[in-house]
Order: sequence, then structure tokens, then C-alpha cells
Amino acid sequence: MRDSFGREITYLRLSVTELCDLRCRYCMPEEGVCKLRHEELLSEEEMLRAVRAAAALGITKVRITGGEPLTKPNILSICRGVAATPGIREVSLTTNGLRLPELAVRLREAGVRRVNISLDTLDPERYAYITRRGKLADALRGIEAALTAGFEQVKLNAVLIGGFNDGEIPALAELTRRWPVDVRFIELMPMPGETAFGPESYLPVSRVLEALPALRPEREDGVARLYRLPGGQGRVGLISPLSQHFCASCNRLRLTADGKLKPCLHSAEEIGIKGMSEDEMREAMAEAIRRKPRCHGELSAARRSQAARNMNQIGG
Ligand code: SAM
Ligand code: SF4
Repeated sequence: MRDSFGREITYLRLSVTELCDLRCRYCMPEEGVCKLRHEELLSEEEMLRAVRAAAALGITKVRITGGEPLTKPNILSICRGVAATPGIREVSLTTNGLRLPELAVRLREAGVRRVNISLDTLDPERYAYITRRGKLADALRGIEAALTAGFEQVKLNAVLIGGFNDGEIPALAELTRRWPVDVRFIELMPMPGETAFGPESYLPVSRVLEALPALRPEREDGVARLYRLPGGQGRVGLISPLSQHFCASCNRLRLTADGKLKPCLHSAEEIGIKGMSEDEMREAMAEAIRRKPRCHGELSAARRSQAARNMNQIGG
């Protein structure tokens, strides 16, 4: 289905949980989020109903996210159900990677074709700092498990943070030569509850080009501008929600774990679909697509997102 500005909406980001086993400083408060009551969350059956409704409107790609989707006890069954939905051609998943050693092969068998794994640093102390509790070695084991499980694509996502990991741009990009992975640098977004970083932390991803003059441009891929290092097996991607937003080509709709459709990541507008029939969900989704704004309001280090939630509650 096309929205009011002619954009074809083909992509659903489905958040299956708000909960997470990490507490990344740019994403979640240290104390975590107050656990929603069971009856406030979409059930697996409701999630799959929503995916069927989305497919009927022309959505072909679903990305499963959270919170940390691999903390969801029925994650394999959700992935299997989404992958088996007629009309859904691609299922991908975004994860911090910690639980991939035990789950990667089973996720692949469940129909997940691609995984994105978050990795902001290669320094164990910095990893423990930014995640407030994670171990770098566990994340690296997760990446290796993904690489051997046979996914069609593995991407690593690094949020670029001034004074934290900007000195690691070469080391992170170097991973594209070591492994067949894309490494994508993402500009830090000023989410409403996130206060760990001041304006000096917001760097444009053009810093990556300055740090790596050897990068050669390749084609664009959705939201990422792509480059390659000489000898790189994978590519280096730049994602710039602040310095060069990609609203004009936005093709996505988001569904939160508590059943709220979000026409735009950075707007407070939400449409609840919990408890609806498939027909009602389809109508609510069509309405959410019609209500997609042309663009979100200006977003900058000084101007925070209008979203009423943190990233873990939206599904980044
Ligand atoms: N837990 C999974 C993970 O970390 O990959 C999936 C959910 S997480 C919210 C999805 C992505 O959002 C991660 O790559 C994370 O780095 C990114 N993210 C979270 N908060 C962000 C922020 N304030 N700015 C930019 N990216 C952010
Ligand atoms: Fe958890 Fe992902 Fe948010 Fe980190 S970015 S706290 S891993 S949801």
C-alpha cells in the first residue's frame, strides 16, 4: 500500500519485547523498564495476526526486534510463524547477539534470513561501560555463531558516539576484512529518555569517511550509504538519521510489543491494535500508513525526538 506521499510501505518492524539483558546507555535507563503486565502485551497469536494483516496490505519484509528479541521465550515459534505467513518474503532479526551461540542455528531453521548484531566497541571495558553489564567476549561469540549458522547476511551495527568509540572507527571497519559482514555506523539519536550523552557525543557519520580515506563508494542500500575498504569482504555502511535523514524513502511501519502501531519512529502518534480481529488490524494498519508524516520534525543534538518512548520500547 502507498502512503499519502506515494511511498510504498513494504516493511514492518515488529518488536516482540521491551525487555533486554543489557542496558545500553543510549537506549534504556539503568533500572530497566517497568515490566508490562502479560495482558498488555501482544500474544504470539496476535503478532502473527498482525503480520497476516500487514501482508494483506503489501508488506513483504518483517524485521523482528525489541528490546532484546532473543530474551523472548517463544522467539523461535514467532519467527517460524512470521516466516510461514503467505506474502512475507523476508524475515530478519536485530539482536545484541549474546544468545546467538545457543539460538543461531535454530533461528536460521525457523526461517530468519538475515541478522543485524549490535557492536559499538571492540574494547572489553568500553563494552561493559556502554552496555552497563555485557561482556564483549559473549557478543563476539554470538557473531561467530551467526557466521557459521548460514544466514544470508550478517550486519554489525555500531552507534557512533563522540569521545566513546570514534577512535575505533578503523578497528570496527576492519571487521569487514576479517569476516564477510557489513559494518554500519549509525548516528546517535536523541531519544526522549536518553540523557547519558551531551551534544558533543553526536557525530555525523561523515567522520567515518574522514577516518577512512581508503573507503570507496558503492550503491545505496535502503537507509545506508555503502562503501568498501580495499580487500573488504563486506561493506561499510553509514546511516545518518540526523545529518541526512531518509524520510523521503521511508517504507516502514512499526509495531510495539504492547500492540501500538507507529507511523513514524520519531512521532508520538500511536494506534493500538491489541485485541482486534485480523480485519480490524488491517484497517488500523491502513490508517497508520495513511497517517505517515512526510517527515519527522527536525532532529538534532539540541532537538530531541518527539517519540514518547525509549528505543527499547519502540523497537530500534
Ligand atoms: N536489542 C537489540 C539490539 O541491540 O540490536 C535490538 C533492539 S535495539 C533498540 C536496535 C538498535 O537500536 C540497536 O542497533 C541499537 O544500537 C540502536 N539504538 C538504540 N538506541 C539508539 C539511539 N539512541 N541512537 C541510535 N541507535 C540506537
Ligand atoms: Fe538492549 Fe538493544 Fe537497547 Fe542495548 S540497544 S539496551 S541491547 S535493546
